[in-house]
Amino acid sequence: MKEGGCGRKQGAAAPCAACKLLRRRCAQDCVFAPYFPADEPQKFANVHKVFGASNVNKMLQVHLKI
Ligand SMILES: [Zn+2]
Repeated sequence: MKEGGCGRKQGAAAPCAACKLLRRRCAQDCVFAPYFPADEPQKFANVHKVFGASNVNKMLQVHLKI
């Protein structure tokens, strides 16, 4: 049996734009991921600049709880 050494498609997913910028670990159920995908880093950078990271976090969490 051979091992597929380089076939790493699942598991080590790239962090979303928010986690990348905030240097957090991007969880599988990360609240930012649906809003700030990894391929749109500028989107979160803009929001982060205007509102601040903690406010963004608060807004999204409130939004998800309701
Ligand atoms: Zn994330």
